[in-house]
Amino acid sequence: MRDIARAAYRSGVLPVLAAAGVFRLMRWSERSAALILLYHGVGASESGEELVNPNHIDVTSFRWQMEFLRENYTVVPLSDIVHRVKRNLPIDRLAAVTFDDGYLGVYEYAAPVLKDLGMPATTFVISGCVEQGVIPWYDLVEAHFINSRLSQLRVGGTTYDLANRREAVRSFKRRIKRVGLDERDELIAELAAAAGPLAASQLQPYALMGWHQMRELQSQLMDFGPHTHSHPHLSKVPHGSARAALEIDEASMLVSERLFIPVRDMIFCYPDGDYDSAARDRVENLGLAGAVAVKNALARTGDDPFALARVGVAGGDSRAAFQDATVGLTRRLKAAFTPRPR
Ligand SMILES: [Zn+2]
Repeated sequence: MRDIARAAYRSGVLPVLAAAGVFRLMRWSERSAALILLYHGVGASESGEELVNPNHIDVTSFRWQMEFLRENYTVVPLSDIVHRVKRNLPIDRLAAVTFDDGYLGVYEYAAPVLKDLGMPATTFVISGCVEQGVIPWYDLVEAHFINSRLSQLRVGGTTYDLANRREAVRSFKRRIKRVGLDERDELIAELAAAAGPLAASQLQPYALMGWHQMRELQSQLMDFGPHTHSHPHLSKVPHGSARAALEIDEASMLVSERLFIPVRDMIFCYPDGDYDSAARDRVENLGLAGAVAVKNALARTGDDPFALARVGVAGGDSRAAFQDATVGLTRRLKAAFTPRPR
């Protein structure tokens, strides 16, 4: 029932609000804030058709979203917004485009659109995955659940029914989010053993860019920054540990060395927007320019330049839903109607 109400709201209410100019009015009232968009992968599929990786967006939608951005904002490199926030300068109507995880689809599909429109963007890369040529752990989980020939998977004493694979993935991911990093890795190894080997074609939708592809994109307005070494939730990494040094310091050094970017010019990106004050301070003390989180909100002058808010874009968003996401009307309504814990 909630899904039906949500679909009716998205297909019925949002277009009416867009036609009435509500989102334009909100953009005007929020003109002193900056919009930092967060994308993951970009794929070839036509608008509306489901991509193998639901976190990715089709290139047709990506293009009209970039055109919309160019018409309604001043699109700048993310570093411009970071520097202005640090100096308390106005960031009126600025927008920046970011990609998390460094998917190959960014090179294949997004970069040509950006080049065509002359727009800058920033991609955050997982240094360990690039070095080893492997896909990130959460995509490996997804690939096993989606492709296993079995009808159910038994992992860590729980049976996952593959009649509804998307739900099984969600359930398993919820579970490994709650445990420590070692237990997470043990559960994923058990999953891999139970589900059987994956073919190269089954891994392809999750492929990441290599360093040489990133270097090629550096010549066309694409910046790069570190997104840890193995994409852990940083609040689970013990403060001051060797793991913290690997995920923040070594990951930053590696991106700096491989792509010839001084550390002070790079912006860090917290995996899934998850960080704590120790991780945040470690990034600042290492000398990076700033950092981005998720938060699904606009960035404002006076914000912490080491935890800037971004707005995530989901695949399959209509034009009205995209405009809504960029101004945050539904987010505000939800917050207003959600009872606060006492
Ligand atoms: Zn990520």
